[in-house]
Amino acid sequence: MGSCAVRMPMDGGTMYECDAEWCEDKIKFMAKALAAKSLHSAGVVICNVYEGDRWDRMECYHPDCYVGVGEPYGDVLSEAPTEPIVATAIAG
Ligand SMILES: [Zn+2]
Repeated sequence: MGSCAVRMPMDGGTMYECDAEWCEDKIKFMAKALAAKSLHSAGVVICNVYEGDRWDRMECYHPDCYVGVGEPYGDVLSEAPTEPIVATAIAG
């Protein structure tokens, strides 16, 4: 198991510190319309960081800050699909 980065939507009650050195914004929930305007507020990138085989720490970034630090833990995976799974009628 290696380090990985996952993008999660923010909810109202949660706030994270962004681990990018230059960034002093808290990662916090934004109204959907605002979040859609800027990658900066489009959720939070949660990184589970492994040192060798062992989990070491969690880091959090704004999505654009994660890109800014050079995507150290690889591509951002989306969280589980948020689209409802539409049951399809079985024809016949
Ligand atoms: Zn940031």
